[in-house]
Amino acid sequence: MAIIEVSDLKKSYGNLEVLKRISFDVDKKDVVAVIGPSGSGKSTMLRSLVHLEEVNGGSICVSGEYLVKDGVYAKPNELKIITSKMGMVFQHFNLFPHLTVKENLELAPKLVKKENSSITSKRSMELMKKIGLTERGNAYPANLSGGQKQRVAIARALMMNPDILLFDEPTSALDPELTGEVLQVMKDLAKEHMTMIVVTHEMEFAKEVANRVIFMDNGEIVEAGHPSELFTNPKHERTKAFLNRSL
Ligand code: ADP
Ligand code: MG
Repeated sequence: MAIIEVSDLKKSYGNLEVLKRISFDVDKKDVVAVIGPSGSGKSTMLRSLVHLEEVNGGSICVSGEYLVKDGVYAKPNELKIITSKMGMVFQHFNLFPHLTVKENLELAPKLVKKENSSITSKRSMELMKKIGLTERGNAYPANLSGGQKQRVAIARALMMNPDILLFDEPTSALDPELTGEVLQVMKDLAKEHMTMIVVTHEMEFAKEVANRVIFMDNGEIVEAGHPSELFTNPKHERTKAFLNRSL
């Protein structure tokens, strides 16, 4: 069953068409890797899903509820409910610098969900354990490595119990020796059947973990398929050219 259905999504900045009628579905438990050259619209597509960008046309349906239908957005209270089903992890972590790890994790559940603090505290302890940072609850982001910061950002997204996690180049800002620890957390989530959309340049990760790869170029989905197919037998010249540059 599709958990996200995107159809004919359009987005322009002035005269620049950034998304040109994009359509795709994500099923429950899918790990979808989105690849493509810089400027092809990957971030805009991802940000549109969580309403960080407003599109100019098309539809986004999440678990049967329309965030936007034929270019018309749901009411503000509905938008909040729909977007809260999705957690987002950014390239530059976007942690709150003045809050500790524990406080970063607990802020949204307390503020948005008005969750009981003993429940929030129990969950943040569990998630710190999951990302291997049990000892660093009172640390501030400035005192963490990039890999640790990104693991905290993933845990923070998980605090809200999202149905889907979206990642925008989660390892691109990291030193190469730190990417592995972040990819490992993502692999673990995939094993637990978390539904994920991952914009990435990590082709090995896409091959190993994704069950579907979407190749975007110039605001369009040029080609999509199982990694074993798309990486070994790309059908379009643009996909071939991109993979030749990237692999
Ligand atoms: P990608 O993530 O694939 O690198 P983006 O979605 O960030 O691509 O950008 C797609 C295109 O939209 C690029 O040409 C970029 O310059 C342009 N763009 C992105 N954000 C803005 C913005 N806020 N205003 C104007 N143009 C933008
Ligand atoms: Mg981007």
